[in-house]
Amino acid sequence: MEIKLVENQEKKNRIIFSLSGVDTAYANTLRRIMGFEVPVMAIEDVELRKNTSILYDEIIAHRLGLIPLSTDLKSYDMMSECKCKGVGCASCTVKLTLKAQGPCTVYASDIKTKDPEIKPLYPKMPIVKLLEGQEIELEATAILGRGKEHSKWCPGLIFYKMPDPDKDEFIFTIESWGQLTPKEIVTKAIELYDKQLEEFAELVKSIE
Ligand SMILES: [Zn+2]
Repeated sequence: MEIKLVENQEKKNRIIFSLSGVDTAYANTLRRIMGFEVPVMAIEDVELRKNTSILYDEIIAHRLGLIPLSTDLKSYDMMSECKCKGVGCASCTVKLTLKAQGPCTVYASDIKTKDPEIKPLYPKMPIVKLLEGQEIELEATAILGRGKEHSKWCPGLIFYKMPDPDKDEFIFTIESWGQLTPKEIVTKAIELYDKQLEEFAELVKSIE
């Protein structure tokens, strides 16, 4: 197997590398793990205390879920793998609050977070426009999740091209949405791939 860096476009959150000496099944598994199994943070639960805006509660909750949040994989665990056994604790959940009164446009930057490491990446993303007398107040919970469960947990756009289908070379493009760096996406994917293979080996041993 050989990996060569083709381009590192840090400002665009994008890396392009060439992977050769592997077959299509291997390259495709790596692509799927990077895109759909590497976890990132996103808002999952929203408790709306006040909402007199023109948008329904469900639409606001949906819009909040799609706001990309900076992600710290070292400090947080997946809820299902956390020591709290899925109840929700400081190791697997982050609380965020939002309170605004019209007239104004409510932006992602108006969200207050309990952990400064987990915050909206694009402050100018609009959530709702409030007219005079309208207001909104809510508390939200963000958790780590995987793109295979919902696209809001997808870490970026990941694809490969085969310049010459007779040759076993795959040109991978990893373009992060910003929650993780492209390098973190690749490193975490390889770590997950190893873990899955180890678990598989253990299962095979238990059959013997
Ligand atoms: Zn927990």
